[in-house]
Amino acid sequence: MKIRALASYNRGDELKPFEYEAPGVTDYQCLIKVAACGICHSDIHCMDNDWSLTTYPIVPGHEVIGRVVEVGPLVGNLALGDRVGVGWQSGSCLSCLDCLRGNQQMCDQNKATIIHQYGGFADYLSVDARFAFKIPVALDTVIAGPLLCGGITVFSGLLHAGMRGGQEIGVIGIGGLGHLAVQFAAKLGNRVTAFTTSPDKAEFARSLGASETVLLDSDGGLPEKPSRKLNIIIDTVAAAKDYNAYLNCLDSDGVFNLVGVPLEAIPLSIFAFQDKRRRIMGSPIGSPAEIIQMLKIAAEHNIAPIVQSFPFSMANDAIQKVRDNKVRYRAVLTMT
Ligand code: NAP
Ligand code: ZN
Repeated sequence: MKIRALASYNRGDELKPFEYEAPGVTDYQCLIKVAACGICHSDIHCMDNDWSLTTYPIVPGHEVIGRVVEVGPLVGNLALGDRVGVGWQSGSCLSCLDCLRGNQQMCDQNKATIIHQYGGFADYLSVDARFAFKIPVALDTVIAGPLLCGGITVFSGLLHAGMRGGQEIGVIGIGGLGHLAVQFAAKLGNRVTAFTTSPDKAEFARSLGASETVLLDSDGGLPEKPSRKLNIIIDTVAAAKDYNAYLNCLDSDGVFNLVGVPLEAIPLSIFAFQDKRRRIMGSPIGSPAEIIQMLKIAAEHNIAPIVQSFPFSMANDAIQKVRDNKVRYRAVLTMT
């Protein structure tokens, strides 16, 4: 069987049709008929080979929702017809210490859906069923995809930065990840400050649950401190900024978590974090167990990606809109 996909054949190129032979559905593999797939900024980083990880042609797409149409003989967690989601990760060794600790996303042999195989901008996706997750009924097919990468990255990032409720939480960048971070932080009982370069988002962030917004300069500069000291800041922006200025918005023992991927080095002043025992961390996606927990919490707390959907045939327009920061708030491709 041929899988019909869209691929970028060279650095920065638009997507073009690409067909490949479906791998056999052996052992723990399953075959998913794709219904919808979000566009994460990491798809664009990889199309542009920003991280020197890309082998062309690359088929992007790692916020996949679809139905299971075939399962391998060893699959125990999924059945034919299940509606599932697949995110950034499509495999790990399952036997190293990180995997045994339940941190499969930090496995050295971590497999990525768009790097180590062809991704979800396609009619079908073949993937290890242990990295495909049943989608709660309450989450609609077209909106659920962005939870599988954007959602889990900010949910796990906030938890590992110490979010426990009753805190002051800052979110920098109100894009695909950021608009979900505002919702997770606010709906799980925190007061949220949104930092954005887009005036319309400053207004809209309040409807997502933010109590305060800081409109940044168009180059990302911080014109003023928020009114309260923050316990956690999660930075979802793919561009460098004045990190020392943001560290000085944190309370003592505050944590700054980088989940966005700026390519520049990060200049830091020791005084911005040492005197107040502040910490700087980064975090990747989340573990399979955290993905299951996150989907349950999203369904129960009515946390939902706000999406602009595009037919598969309009994928290049959608990608250009993401590049231009014109999407409100996550572009999703729908397959027919
Ligand atoms: P996105 O939807 O494009 O949102 C990024 C937001 O950053 C924009 O909406 C914009 O928000 C803000 N921004 C301000 N200046 C910018 C600039 N010069 N360049 C780019 N963005 C700028 O992207 P996303 O899908 O949320 O992804 C954000 C970052 O997280 C990317 O670097 C992506 O690779 C990374 N990521 C990391 C992980 C992980 O595992 N750690 C997982 C997924 C994604 P305002 O309009 O509000 O200013
Ligand atoms: Zn992603």
